Parts: sequence; structure tokens; C-alpha cells
Amino acid sequence: MDLSYTEEEEDFRARLRDWLAEVLPKLPEPPDPLDWPGRRAYDTGWQRALYDAGYAGVHWEASPTLRMIFLEESERAGAPYVGANFVGLLHAGPTITAEGTAEQRARWLEPILRGDEIWCQGFSEPDAGSDLASLRTRARRDGDHYVVTGSKVWTSHAEVADWCELLVRTDPEAPRHRGISWLALPMDAPGITVRPLRTLAGSTEFAEVFLDEVPVPVANRLGAEDDGWRVTMVTLSFERGTAFVGEVVACRRVLGELAREARANGRWDDPALRRRLGRLSAEFQALWRLTQANVSRAQRTGGVPGVGGSVFKLRYSHARQELYDAAADVLGDGGLDLDHPWTRERLSSLSYTIAAGTSQIQRNIVAERILGLPKGR
Ligand SMILES: Cc1cc2nc3c(=O)[nH]c(=O)nc-3n(C[C@H](O)[C@H](O)[C@H](O)COP(=O)(O)OP(=O)(O)OC[C@H]3O[C@@H](n4cnc5c(N)ncnc54)[C@H](O)[C@@H]3O)c2cc1C
Repeated sequence: MDLSYTEEEEDFRARLRDWLAEVLPKLPEPPDPLDWPGRRAYDTGWQRALYDAGYAGVHWEASPTLRMIFLEESERAGAPYVGANFVGLLHAGPTITAEGTAEQRARWLEPILRGDEIWCQGFSEPDAGSDLASLRTRARRDGDHYVVTGSKVWTSHAEVADWCELLVRTDPEAPRHRGISWLALPMDAPGITVRPLRTLAGSTEFAEVFLDEVPVPVANRLGAEDDGWRVTMVTLSFERGTAFVGEVVACRRVLGELAREARANGRWDDPALRRRLGRLSAEFQALWRLTQANVSRAQRTGGVPGVGGSVFKLRYSHARQELYDAAADVLGDGGLDLDHPWTRERLSSLSYTIAAGTSQIQRNIVAERILGLPKGR
């Protein structure tokens, strides 16, 4: 892997830096984290600004290096990250690009890039999380529609989503991993009830979604009927492989802020804390290099990241928790203030070792699919 930059790449960096310096001061104040309609408006507004300036497709079309430069510069300048556009931009969109027909790509990709449509993910069910293949939401074929009945849980951003990447069982008689299909569910279809769930940090990041005889056009199916498990693996490889990339850059910035705060409040005098921050700095540097390796490997192998994403997801989610534990020590008593952004991040970082597949499941994947160890029972 060549980590030096070409003249063209440096030029991209300079132009982006100038553009960010011009537009960021004009951005409105970010909304309250509990105000979901406000968050949607803010996040989609930023996406539209990226679109108008020609940067919206950077996650999909640009070379891995340009993508890395984009993330580095955006974070350095304090630009908003994907926010409510997370599912659409970072895994539904890439899955539609890889698996959709020309009509499906034409229908769904542009509105994601323009920030016009938000997606959510309806994979998990009350009895199907780690063991996703045991999902039971049923889609019965009725002419040119499916009629979908069942329930989903932990559906992030469901409250404000226009579309949901939905996994359904189209053949209940087939073996578990077959008989599943991947559908694009319009969230305004009749028969959908969204019930928000409140997290430890007070926010309603996700919801339960109940589906009662919901009509979904057959044309909204991605891939062949009953072949949804294969499509799901594509979605999950994007979710674990490349979706967290921007957050590594953010963690490196926070680490610098922790060091500055510790110097200012005297905690820097503690050698154990200094050692901890130094080790975390090396850790995030290594994660950034691993990210670069994963993204450039994905580029070489047709754009779909492989199981290497599980190595990254496993280590990143733990390092993020350690980072915000260190933040609490830097803040001292201030770390108990629930309104402090580092404290809120500390609470939400607890979920990182669960979301997108728990650490135990990532270890199983690393053991079986990378190290070739025998399958667990
Ligand atoms: C912040 C957040 C956002 C999320 N967003 C979404 C979303 O938008 N859409 C969506 O569909 N889902 C979402 N999820 C759900 C997430 O994918 C599941 O929580 C996750 O897959 C775990 O499933 P579960 O909660 O049912 O736990 P379970 O599968 O019941 O696991 C319980 C425990 O058993 C362990 N375990 C289970 N099986 C094994 C095994 N074979 N070997 C070893 N240990 C095992 C697990 O590691 C875990 O510790 C989100 C979750 C979080 C925390």
C-alpha cells in the first residue's frame, strides 16, 4: 500500500480545505440531540451542501485515498459527519450499488446523495439479533406485492426514515439461511407502527417497528427471492468494514482534546494517565492504518469489503470505550455531568460492542473465517 499523496490528491485536499473554511462558519447551530426532526433537517441540509459542491459521492465513487483525505479534512475542520444519513450513505446505498438493478439504482441512489431520503435498517428482531438467520418477519406474495407481518427492534433512526432495508422470510419451509429476502420498505406504507426506545443517555436513537399486513411492491426486492442472506452479507460487510471509518478520525481529534484538557486542569502530571493517552494514541493510529488497508483492499476486490472489517470493528469498538473512560478520568468530577459531550459519548460508546454484531460474534467470525479454526457449536 502506497501511503504518499499524488499532486492531484494534494490538490483535492487544498480545494476541500478552502471550501470547508468558507461554508462551515455559515452553518446553523447543531440541534439538541433529543430533537430528531431537527437532527434530520440539519444532517440532510449538510448532505445537500456536500451534493451541491460535488462531494456527496465521495463515500461511494472516490478512490480510497480521496475518501481518507475527505474524512481527515472534514474532521480537522469540525464538519458534521453523516448523522441520520448513516444507513443510506454507508450501507444501504453501497448495497444497492452492488446488488440493485439499473432501475433500483436510478430510484434510490440519487435521493440518498442529495440528502432527500433517509434510510433505516430493519434486520434485528426480538428473537433474532446475533442469530439473525432466525428472523421470522413474514412476507407473503400476493400478485405484484408482498404482504409483510412481523416486528423489528433496535431500528436506528426509524422515527425519521423514509425507507427501511428490511429482511423478511419469504419461504418459511426453507432452511434458515435460505428463504430470506431483502426488501426496500417505504416507511409511509399503511400498517407500520414505530415505537421509539429511550437509551441510557436519554435519546431515542432507535425504535421498535411493528408491521401489520404491510404491502411492499415485489419490485422493491434487492436480489432474487429467497437469496436475501447473500445480499445481507454484502450489507454487513459495508456496515462493519467501512461505515465506522470517519469515527476513527473523530476519536483521534478527541484524544488531542483530552491531552489539552489534562494539561489545563493539572491531570497531565499523573504519569499513569499520560501513559494511557499515549497508548490510546498508538491504538488509534494503528486503527487508522488498518482502515486504510481495508478500504484499499475493498477497492481492489470490486468495492465490497470482506471479513477484515470484523477485525477493525472488534478493536475499534473497544478502543472507543477506553477513550471515553479516559475522558472521564481527565474530567474528574466533571465526568458525572450528563450534559458534557464526552460523558454522553461515554454512555453511548457502551453500545458499540453490541451494534453491528457483538464482540463475541466478531471473534467467532475472525476465528472461523480468517484463522480457519473449527466452527463453534
Ligand atoms: C446502538 C445500536 C444500534 C442498533 N441499530 C440497529 C439497526 O439500526 N437495525 C437493526 O436491525 N439492528 C440494530 N441493532 C441491533 C444489533 O444488531 C443487535 O443488538 C446485535 O446484533 C445483538 O443482538 P441482540 O441484541 O439480540 O443480542 P443477542 O444476540 O441476544 O446476544 C446476547 C449475548 O449473547 C452473546 N452471543 C449470542 N450468540 C453468541 C454466539 N454464537 N457465540 C458467542 N456469544 C454469543 C452476544 O455476544 C451477547 O453478549 C442496534 C444495536 C445497538 C446497540
